[in-house]
Amino acid sequence: MTYNEPMFKKLGHYFHGALGILKSRMRIGIADMDVIAQRREICQNCPEALPCRGSIRIKCKCGVCGCKLNDKIRLHNEKCPIDKW
Ligand code: SF4
Repeated sequence: MTYNEPMFKKLGHYFHGALGILKSRMRIGIADMDVIAQRREICQNCPEALPCRGSIRIKCKCGVCGCKLNDKIRLHNEKCPIDKW
């Protein structure tokens, strides 16, 4: 089997996402409430954010990194991929 860099990058991305969701749901490494509120406001008004299923107004996913916004904005160590927060 040969080393497949794109496959490992994709696996790393999925692992990062799964770990982030787990930490967020278990409330590990959670940011302050005012930081979360500020991030939510930025993401909900970001043109890169993708709407939730069944909604045109509420955004659920980042269109740049593919992360679930509700979990991403809650984690202290997360960053916006285009430096909006
Ligand atoms: S994380 Fe950044 S790029 Fe993604 S939706 Fe939020 S503000 Fe936009």
